[in-house]
Amino acid sequence: MVGDTGLIGLGVMGQSLARNFQDHGYTVVVYNRTGEKTSDFVAKYPAFLAEYSIEKFVSKLNEPRRIVLMLTAGTAVDAALTSLTGLLSSGDVVIDGGNSFFQDTERRCADLGRQGIHFLGVGVSGGEEGALKGPCIMVGGPREGYELVREMLSRVAAQVDGPCCEYLGPRGAGHYVKMVHNGIEYAIIQIIAEAYDLLTRGAGLNLKQARDVFKEWNEGELGSFLMEIVVEVLGKVDPTTKRPLVSLILDRAQQKGTGKWTSQNAMDLGIPTPTIDAAVSARNLSSLKEERMKAAEIFKPLRKPHKVSVPGNFTERLEGAVRASISLSYAQGFHLMRTASKEYEYMIPLADVARIWRGGCIIRARMLDLIKHAFEMNGQLPNLMMDQAFAKLLAGLENRWRDTVRTTKETGLPAPAIGASLDYYDSYRSGNLPANLIQILRDRFGAHGYERLDKSGHFHSNWP
Ligand code: NAP
Repeated sequence: MVGDTGLIGLGVMGQSLARNFQDHGYTVVVYNRTGEKTSDFVAKYPAFLAEYSIEKFVSKLNEPRRIVLMLTAGTAVDAALTSLTGLLSSGDVVIDGGNSFFQDTERRCADLGRQGIHFLGVGVSGGEEGALKGPCIMVGGPREGYELVREMLSRVAAQVDGPCCEYLGPRGAGHYVKMVHNGIEYAIIQIIAEAYDLLTRGAGLNLKQARDVFKEWNEGELGSFLMEIVVEVLGKVDPTTKRPLVSLILDRAQQKGTGKWTSQNAMDLGIPTPTIDAAVSARNLSSLKEERMKAAEIFKPLRKPHKVSVPGNFTERLEGAVRASISLSYAQGFHLMRTASKEYEYMIPLADVARIWRGGCIIRARMLDLIKHAFEMNGQLPNLMMDQAFAKLLAGLENRWRDTVRTTKETGLPAPAIGASLDYYDSYRSGNLPANLIQILRDRFGAHGYERLDKSGHFHSNWP
């Protein structure tokens, strides 16, 4: 018996994706480095074909072969590709469905391309449940290769007005978009965490009240997967202590790198992504738990904002701040993708990105309809802030947003992502910035020169 698809890597994502392929009628051959995981998997799901040597695994696949890698990003992918060397034929397709760094995907695409093998760098979002029931699939690589797996990927993807699976460009384009998706995800999660802090530590709501606020938000313009699961996790009780689980979890956030890569790449391309940067830094700061505990003893306790009633002005203002900040997280991510698309010649179809992000992925949200519409109206939109509907939305939220930031500053409650978003908004819409002073200082100490408003050219002043 031969398989339609081979899958290497039976971790959390690999197992779910393999089952998803099978649920859609594909015969899947599975292989995992640690054989025990393979035998456990087939003991549970006997319809899969399992192989314990890479040679046998490859020999069980129909040609052209279609092999999906669901592996830890980095050396694991190179190790798997090395083990496949000499076993594949020209025309075969290898799909890397993990969170590989897009520059690694560029290199692998070129290496395998020289052997006639189509290497696709594919971002898969949706976590374990999404991989099983329908993820969002962001494809990059040779289009010819995509055509060979298009039907299969489209069938297993989430469906919202069609499959949430799209070809987004050559080489590393798919993994690039997935990286930015994760950067936006970091930003939104941070904004939600700040709102939770402001509601509980700030306004003194208990967890049930805070949960009710998120529930109400989720039913409105903020409706999204992340808002939905905030409501779920805030209701989770620890079975042993019978206390809310969230109150027992150490406040030290971990990360796997995709948010950091987004910020690093944005810096490389000179595109401001301050909300994403703030979210990455906030995770770093959270990890300094021992230092923070010591500093808390040195500095005065934080002040609480005035008592609030629920639902009251405070939560209404906060909703505006959260909505505006999340909108700008998307705006920054799309601005970055637009620039990268030119820089790396990816030609990323931004309206399609917004379209497929509406299903399966972690950042699926009601507001993506507005973003999709903005890029459908103008594919060359430099920044979502320049879209009329988006600008109107932000202007309508501005007072509530500013009031919330004022409260955070007055009370000393940290809200770095919400604050950074408002500063981004104020800076981007400011026709004049104090960068003239920066330029004159640079010229004074380093003879770096400056441009002038009243005449063109490059100037330098004589300083004592
Ligand atoms: P996981 O549960 O940790 O599984 C990792 C898999 O990689 C295992 O099958 C492991 O094999 C294999 N592996 C690790 N190092 C290897 C090596 N040197 N050589 C060969 N195989 C190796 O990871 P996961 O959560 O399924 O994630 C898989 C990929 O999807 C990652 O790139 C991740 O970033 C991405 N992703 C994850 C999620 C999520 O929510 N979990 C969502 C989207 C994307 P062994 O069993 O032998 O260790």
